[in-house]
Amino acid sequence: MDKKRIVVIGGGAGGLELVRKLGTYFSAKDTEIMLVDKNRTHLWKPLLHEVAAGSLDANLDEVGYGGHGVKWGYRFFYGTFHSINRNKRLITIAPLKDQNGEEIIKAHDIYYDYLVIATGGVSNDFSIRGVSTNALFLEQRAHADEFRAKLLNECFKVSLQVDSGHKDAHVDVVIVGGGATGVELAAELYNAAKSLKNYGLEDFDESRLRVSLIEAGQRILPSLPEKLASTAKKELSLMGVTIHTSTVVSEVGKTQITTSDGRKINSSLTLWAAGVKGADYLSELDGLETDKLSRLVVDEFLQTSLDERISAIGDCASFIPKTADRPLHPRAQAAHQMAKAVFVNLCAKIEKKPLQEFIYKDNGSIVSLSRFFTIGSLMGNLIRGDMAIEGRLARVAYWSLYRLHLLAIHGLLRGLTLILIGHVNRIVRPKLKVH
Ligand SMILES: Cc1cc2nc3c(=O)[nH]c(=O)nc-3n(C[C@H](O)[C@H](O)[C@H](O)COP(=O)(O)OP(=O)(O)OC[C@H]3O[C@@H](n4cnc5c(N)ncnc54)[C@H](O)[C@@H]3O)c2cc1C
Repeated sequence: MDKKRIVVIGGGAGGLELVRKLGTYFSAKDTEIMLVDKNRTHLWKPLLHEVAAGSLDANLDEVGYGGHGVKWGYRFFYGTFHSINRNKRLITIAPLKDQNGEEIIKAHDIYYDYLVIATGGVSNDFSIRGVSTNALFLEQRAHADEFRAKLLNECFKVSLQVDSGHKDAHVDVVIVGGGATGVELAAELYNAAKSLKNYGLEDFDESRLRVSLIEAGQRILPSLPEKLASTAKKELSLMGVTIHTSTVVSEVGKTQITTSDGRKINSSLTLWAAGVKGADYLSELDGLETDKLSRLVVDEFLQTSLDERISAIGDCASFIPKTADRPLHPRAQAAHQMAKAVFVNLCAKIEKKPLQEFIYKDNGSIVSLSRFFTIGSLMGNLIRGDMAIEGRLARVAYWSLYRLHLLAIHGLLRGLTLILIGHVNRIVRPKLKVH
């Protein structure tokens, strides 16, 4: 039998779990597993708002692909994918440059027998003026680090101003997008601001922070039941967040944003979290079909509609369940379920067995308002219908999502050890990262 090669592009919520499963399953067999990622480390995306606010030190939760690959039987290749030649079954990796822009490795090709694209999503700026130049995003660790550094600078500036008699000085943060990312970040910022005075900013507390949350729709958290969304709205308002619903941003400037009805809202920092789409280059991948948000259209087996050798999972895939009329929302649980399904089907292809249809099970959504409150709705196997949860139960459900991800990428023993270490770290390490 010829040696086969499965290449997975993107080691995120879906891709990393997939290569671990494939590497473990095929370790002693004639199939090589390769992961390509444009970063050298993985950080679970739903942690990014905590990294941005400074309440989580990303160094402790990052996973290096090199070491992970050695442990779980796959090869890691560091590089940015941008095109495919489907006839020759080659993907092209862009030239690798160092910090000074000097080329270290030239552009080159990697052969595949089966390819899985798991490159996640990018922020949708809807071509609104000023977003790409003046707003920050939360797509990867570097973005979260940039936000935290800028936020700290603003807080230091205000603390000094207060110290020198400017009693009204404050930091204006505008978050555009009232979905889970925007809501979670708004709450996390207040949680972090509460502690800043213990970290050298004696004249700063949460009353110096003014967060505006802007949502184009009629209410925040459209994916949650209305009752839960209004609870979240009440809690956010109590913290001090100003919520603007039915408000469309028409321009993002350096120090203020403009809305379509002509209002101006001051902003020292603007975070854009108004929606996710596939990266633009996906619509130019050797004729593969994409939807209007540049996501790769996949069939019931998660294969791209025009090429059975190429699958797509997670935020970059456009999969419409038979019971729905639109593609799945970009969520970690969808990426996780798709990774499991593609694993089964890749094994089936190599072992020449029948493929299994992907059936998505919505287990609900949980939104954390930092230490203040957690809300969500549970659905699926354990209960009938939809059950709203709040408080401690919701908090446990929220934290179990990350724990399950750790078990999925590290296995039971290592995963449980890391969960334990995480607990200890949360107790013994500083509550805030101010560097
Ligand atoms: C702040 C925040 C909070 C969230 N909270 C939740 C939540 O509570 N619950 C939930 O279900 N979902 C949540 N999400 C959404 C969830 O994180 C995503 O749906 C999930 O991570 C998608 O998984 P993925 O594998 O498709 O992509 P990702 O996890 O985004 O991984 C994509 C990977 O591809 C790599 N990559 C990208 N482009 C290239 C390229 N050209 N070449 C090589 N590598 C590339 C990236 O480096 C990355 O490693 C949240 C997202 C954010 C930003």
